[in-house]
Amino acid sequence: MNELSPIRNFDLADETLLLDTIDRWLEKEVRPVVKDHDHDDRWPAEIVEQMREFGLFGATVSPEYGGLGLPAVTYARIVMRISSVWMAITGIFNSHLMLALAIEKFGTPEQKRTWLPKLASGEIRGGLALTEPDAGTDLQGIRMTARRDGDSYVINGTKTWISNGIQGSVFALLVKTNPAAEPRYKGMSLFIAPKGPGFTTGKKLEKLGYKSIDSAEMVFDNYRVPGDHLIGGEEGRGFLQATGGLELGRINVAARGVGIAEGALALSTEYAQIRKTFGKPIAEHQAIQLKLGEMATRARAARLLTLDAAAAFDRGERCDLEAGMAKYFASEAALENSTEGLRIHGAYGYSKEYDIERLYRDAPLTCIGEGTNEMQRMIIAKQWIKRNKVT
Ligand SMILES: Cc1cc2nc3c(=O)[nH]c(=O)nc-3n(C[C@H](O)[C@H](O)[C@H](O)COP(=O)(O)OP(=O)(O)OC[C@H]3O[C@@H](n4cnc5c(N)ncnc54)[C@H](O)[C@@H]3O)c2cc1C
Repeated sequence: MNELSPIRNFDLADETLLLDTIDRWLEKEVRPVVKDHDHDDRWPAEIVEQMREFGLFGATVSPEYGGLGLPAVTYARIVMRISSVWMAITGIFNSHLMLALAIEKFGTPEQKRTWLPKLASGEIRGGLALTEPDAGTDLQGIRMTARRDGDSYVINGTKTWISNGIQGSVFALLVKTNPAAEPRYKGMSLFIAPKGPGFTTGKKLEKLGYKSIDSAEMVFDNYRVPGDHLIGGEEGRGFLQATGGLELGRINVAARGVGIAEGALALSTEYAQIRKTFGKPIAEHQAIQLKLGEMATRARAARLLTLDAAAAFDRGERCDLEAGMAKYFASEAALENSTEGLRIHGAYGYSKEYDIERLYRDAPLTCIGEGTNEMQRMIIAKQWIKRNKVT
């Protein structure tokens, strides 16, 4: 039984209504502006406000704190649909939801009452700050320290690559409260860190894709945070708290991969029936059919793996293996389908006039975020062997 996944049911009619509304919004408000926003790397203020109105900043937060309390299956379907048009904007609410999840699952009753309603409504937005310049995959190697000083903690160090780093105002911040602890994870703690004196954000990092959402460096120089901002109120639990949302996090990245894989398939299917060579649409050439056949199969397999992991999560089952497989497969499907889609578009795939180039630039992030795919395969194998032990 997975304690992190409350069993949630959501009426199918409500889900259909929500997904239809999101589809209409995507076509009317997002698709027409995505190219310009992406090419100019511009913060999509109106789109963020519309996502707030839909309740997406509280999508997985419990209704008792003002959230929608969506099951993972419904949440994954929303992320798939949005990502098929513009993956980057899902990061704006997903990183925020990872912060909310850490507080809801591990916070004290007071922390939940104080922070969750404001996060669920999107009144304040934020993210999860784990990575440092010298520590990403090896999270236990972080150097940021928090030293107790009276009723507060003094934090020093640097984070990098933090999504929503500039636009957000509060972050779940992973630090070392005991840098000498062995094993290393026992010296780690997670704080709720609102922006204030001593907490500065660098400029927006320049990226290949995943534009418009800001990824930033954060510097903490004698930043002081009250003791009651320590999540759960006890030191030494930060590593488990920071990684405790990984199953849902991986289902989310898998859903982004599905969206890109399906988006690339849709663009390519349309283009292949319009573009003609040698007197017929390229869709009638066998070489293109082979690509479309593989792309359609990959997209469908990625979708089914992701929904399977999400359903296990909603049933309250342990699903680290399933979520890992979904994340790994769907993100590779995104990369392969966007690459094949680009090739189907010929020279136009290389042009900034066509949407496929954005999917091609956005896809690689899904292979890095929430555990790189190199690590993912090792995690899958370890779990697989554990579940299939020869006795
Ligand atoms: C656009 C973007 C947004 C991000 N948003 C956030 C965010 O909001 N919050 C946050 O905390 N972080 C964020 N990150 C950081 C991200 O989580 C890290 O980049 C990721 O964890 C990998 O860490 P790294 O880049 O330091 O790579 P490294 O850990 O240096 O890894 C480099 C390579 O070595 C491989 N590798 C590492 N260790 C092993 C091993 N033991 N065995 C085999 N291979 C190994 C990796 O798979 C990778 O291929 C973001 C990154 C990007 C690009």
